[in-house]
Amino acid sequence: MHKSPHPYPFLEVQNVCDDLVREIVRGYKPGIDLRVSDDSPPNMIVGARVAMGSNVRSGIPTVHIYLREWVMAFYGMCNQDELLFETTFVLAFLHELTHLALGLVPQHDVPLDPEEMYVSEEIVCAKTCEIMELFVGAGRQLLPTDQAFHDAWIKCGRNKDTVSWKDFVGKRYSKNKS
Ligand SMILES: [Zn+2]
Repeated sequence: MHKSPHPYPFLEVQNVCDDLVREIVRGYKPGIDLRVSDDSPPNMIVGARVAMGSNVRSGIPTVHIYLREWVMAFYGMCNQDELLFETTFVLAFLHELTHLALGLVPQHDVPLDPEEMYVSEEIVCAKTCEIMELFVGAGRQLLPTDQAFHDAWIKCGRNKDTVSWKDFVGKRYSKNKS
């Protein structure tokens, strides 16, 4: 068997992905739509994390991938580190799938209000942090922004209902909002 010098938790990540897609298909009959776009993320995609977002467009759960933003992310925040880019991309994608699987996305082409957004991120980021632990366990590095989420998650005892977790997520998202 080929052994990668930089292990990627393929099986675990695929299982998480399968579970999320199953949940999305159960909740929304039309399945899922992936949109790869050359534009910049519009403001209405409130769930945007790094260069990806999700919403329900005319009843269809949709993940938007902003390709140009990802190219900039490779040269910018990932500093051309291929492994870091890979980890960041997969985490962002699974983050958006989690929004859709839990129904915590803008519905009917209307953005979430700020309060709804905080609550959705408290829940979805907690799940993303669980997924991060798969990568950390495989020896992968995280972006400093993702690392901060991971650290806050460990610090609050992996409990999304704690005040410290809610505070952390609230601050993160209000800072990025305006
Ligand atoms: Zn989100």
